[in-house]
Amino acid sequence: MSDDHASHAISAYGSTINQTPHLDRLADGGVRFDNAFCTNSICTPSRASILTGTYNHVNGVTTLATPFDTRQPSFPGLLAEQGYQTALFGKWHLGHGGLHDPRGFDEWAVFPDQGDYHDPEMIHPDGRRVHRGYATDIVTDMSLDWLERRDPARPFCLLVHHKAPHRPWEPDAAHADMYTDVDIPEPPTLRDDYSGRSEAAAAATMRIDRDLKPDDLKEPVPEGLSADEELSWRYQRYIKDYLRCVASIDDNVGRLLDRLDAAGLSDDTLVVYTSDQGFFLGDHGWYDKRFMYEESLRMPLLMRYPRVIQPGSSCDAMVLNVDFAQTFLDLARVPELPTMQGRSLTPLLQGNVPDDWRTSMYYRYWMHDDFFHHVRAHYGVRTHRYKLIHYYGEGFGLPGNTDRTFEPEWELFDLEHDPMELNSVHDDPAYASVRRDLERELDRLQREVGDQPAASLTVS
Ligand code: CA
Repeated sequence: MSDDHASHAISAYGSTINQTPHLDRLADGGVRFDNAFCTNSICTPSRASILTGTYNHVNGVTTLATPFDTRQPSFPGLLAEQGYQTALFGKWHLGHGGLHDPRGFDEWAVFPDQGDYHDPEMIHPDGRRVHRGYATDIVTDMSLDWLERRDPARPFCLLVHHKAPHRPWEPDAAHADMYTDVDIPEPPTLRDDYSGRSEAAAAATMRIDRDLKPDDLKEPVPEGLSADEELSWRYQRYIKDYLRCVASIDDNVGRLLDRLDAAGLSDDTLVVYTSDQGFFLGDHGWYDKRFMYEESLRMPLLMRYPRVIQPGSSCDAMVLNVDFAQTFLDLARVPELPTMQGRSLTPLLQGNVPDDWRTSMYYRYWMHDDFFHHVRAHYGVRTHRYKLIHYYGEGFGLPGNTDRTFEPEWELFDLEHDPMELNSVHDDPAYASVRRDLERELDRLQREVGDQPAASLTVS
């Protein structure tokens, strides 16, 4: 797993801005999920959902400020109880100390919170140590070393959790000169003016044209540029460093795949590549995530397991981060828990979509109007064609920020006619019946997962 790696920066997903040969190798040998979604597009909450198979109102990790209580069952712990050797190296970001340190792992070493790219400090069960080198290489080195030392007679579960390509997008020396002589294509919505949608879109402060900090840009903006030229310059500065960090991940995925091949483990090992959420790569003029819009909602998800999965296949069934835990347990023949809220992907891995597979999903971003990004809390429902989003206006989510309220707003997108989500049709009479159906579906999903609607929600 990486952090903030959008699927539209993976060539197996049709990226127009970079090549990822080793991730493509994984896709060529397995399945590419084309509709994998997170249920809350932010680091800590998505990680909690992946570990536990539960939504954030259940696992309690609704925001970056709500650490994970590791007494809750997680898939690594359940596998460990059944004799699996388990290890975690890299990004944890679910809290530290006491009930928040990693649990269920025979061995672990994690970055404190976000961690550093260069010469990172890592927390080990017996204390903190600085490791010389580049974070992505170090996490892979630790993982390969653990694979060598493991007991070959027992099964294993290894979590290789890269910090990259999270902000502040610092490449290593080996990739620092990539793309210096080329311009990366700009996304079609880089110059979005936020018309046609709610106030919430225009209010977000994660814009490439004004919100990137000097530490993000790493060099001063050249003088004498027009506003439009400056936006292009900022985009290139941002996206090139992001893609350089991705290139290092890709190289290190290659090292891991090579080692599995050399050890004769590839046929019997489920290899998964994902990220905790998607990311805006200049789309809508933004960096970062949080919104239920496509670029942020989508997770990359590649799975290779030659005993079960047809090589080079793809799957467009709707899959969620809450499905991962049950899938891993199911494939390992370890019973899932009744409290888990996802569904095993095993039939999809076998190439069959069950008749009763989900055709809609529930999303909720709780971190109401945080001080840096100002993305308002919202929830919504996505079907294969439509998306209904409700910015419910209530100020809760982050401690100390409970009194900010906004006018509740709605958005409705027809993804078939408006895949870039530029024009909400919520108030278009032609979509009245679609809107009512989606409101009912949102209500149904909210009940199904056990979440509570905001006071402003009224279903007609
Ligand atoms: Ca993240």
